[in-house]
Amino acid sequence: MTGGGFDGVERRGLMFVLSSPSGAGKTTLSRLLTERMPDLKMSVSATTRPMRPGEVEGRDYFFVDKARFEAMAGQGDLLEWATVFDNRYGTPRAPVEAALAAGQDVLFDIDWQGTQQLREKARADVVSVFILPPSAADLEKRLHTRAQDSDEVIRGRMSRASHELSHWAEYDYIVVNQDVDQAFAEIQSILRAERLKRERRTGLTGFVRNLQRQLEK
Ligand code: 5GP
Repeated sequence: MTGGGFDGVERRGLMFVLSSPSGAGKTTLSRLLTERMPDLKMSVSATTRPMRPGEVEGRDYFFVDKARFEAMAGQGDLLEWATVFDNRYGTPRAPVEAALAAGQDVLFDIDWQGTQQLREKARADVVSVFILPPSAADLEKRLHTRAQDSDEVIRGRMSRASHELSHWAEYDYIVVNQDVDQAFAEIQSILRAERLKRERRTGLTGFVRNLQRQLEK
């Protein structure tokens, strides 16, 4: 799980997790991150929920039926999975392992249940960020503007939001999405700093030894 950093020092890839109640702006922030941060690959989940207008198979999700999902989970093809709003969601294992092996970081848009499972499996490689909406009114407004879900689904999502929020303290970082540019800048700073963490930079010992050799010549 190593790749070269920009400064030539090898490091382990990291698993960058974004979670939030739906409507807190996480999808927009994930898109901005993958567009603007090099070496960050989005993990595309499998789900049993119906496709929403505008979504694309293989880009937003792999849309599968329940039987297919159960088969994937049973064969160990999912790194983690959870039931959210009566639908199943899970992270296909192979693309994540391939990206990390190629020295890329992987971005996950998953809920708190999935985050817990990833943390149990790879604590040192998981960096988790929880995004909070600035207010309940703001969350509701975003769910309505998205206009992808029925009123009934939106009501369900609002009432689940409070429960999801209760998991905030399990995350490494908390970002309040008052302003999308500001929130993006904060998340970008987190990723940049985490990429520089000493423990992740497997190439440092050799790099410093080499420096010392040159200095002592
Ligand atoms: P949505 O239906 O709005 O796309 O997603 C609903 C929730 O499921 C979001 O909180 C999202 O983060 C979560 N989710 C999406 N994919 C996965 C996954 O692969 N695993 C887990 N645990 N949660 C997921």
